[in-house]
Amino acid sequence: YIYFFINKVFSEDKSLGVIILMFDYTQKHKLDLIRKEFSSNVSHELKTPLTSINGYAEMIETGIAKGEDIKKFASIIRDEGLRLLELINSIIKLSKIEDDSYKRDFSYKKDFEDVNLYSISIDVIEKLKLIASEKNIDLKLIGSDQNIKANKVMIKELLYNLIENAIKYTPNEGKVTIEILNDSNFTVLKVKDTGIGISKEDQKRIFERFFMVDKSRTKNKNSTGLGLSIVKHIIEYHNFKISLISEIDRGSQFIIYM
Ligand code: ADP
Repeated sequence: YIYFFINKVFSEDKSLGVIILMFDYTQKHKLDLIRKEFSSNVSHELKTPLTSINGYAEMIETGIAKGEDIKKFASIIRDEGLRLLELINSIIKLSKIEDDSYKRDFSYKKDFEDVNLYSISIDVIEKLKLIASEKNIDLKLIGSDQNIKANKVMIKELLYNLIENAIKYTPNEGKVTIEILNDSNFTVLKVKDTGIGISKEDQKRIFERFFMVDKSRTKNKNSTGLGLSIVKHIIEYHNFKISLISEIDRGSQFIIYM
């Protein structure tokens, strides 16, 4: 997408020549497309739970729902309401990180500080302990005290999303292990699970917005399909690298080089 502007230049009716201005809009055009696609995805994802809320509320209001059904429908309304809330929170987070990325000056990382990866992992694990224990999942942290330069809030968010997924997509009695290692060049963070795994095909797509491997299966688990795109943005923001090793029915490993 290159735009040309051609202007003839005159001086006292004498033509001096032409000025050609060339603007490269390729990047901007790409961003515009991503934004457009994002907005249409957002409206679709928001409409689905809302339609269901309206439908069930109407059945209660008009008296079509009777007895036990009223309770059942109210609980669907509540679940869908929670999903909606989760979705909105994720969308806000995503656009905030995107905004920050645009504003960020790469040479001046003013929002970076010393972050102790180990103690921040303990905080996050503390929050997720309950859902792990409900599934009898063995949730473990291995590693050493490790400081990195990073945005603390974002690192918390990144850990939360990866560990929550590991628990969500691991059947009862499984194992989730968080490992912090020190390579000579990097600090390495691994989030490993013994869960359902991700096929090679889906591995290419899971970082896309709103992508879920199996919508019907994941829908009840507060899924938005936005968690990993938030992770991807945080990785890019810090210039970290992420890789994924996964096998169906054996488990997944998300590895981050910081
Ligand atoms: P969400 O979990 O809200 O659906 P994510 O963006 O976090 O959204 O993940 C996208 C999809 O990737 C999930 O729906 C799930 O199918 C798959 N996924 C993510 N993490 C794992 C994991 N640890 N094991 C298996 N599948 C996973």
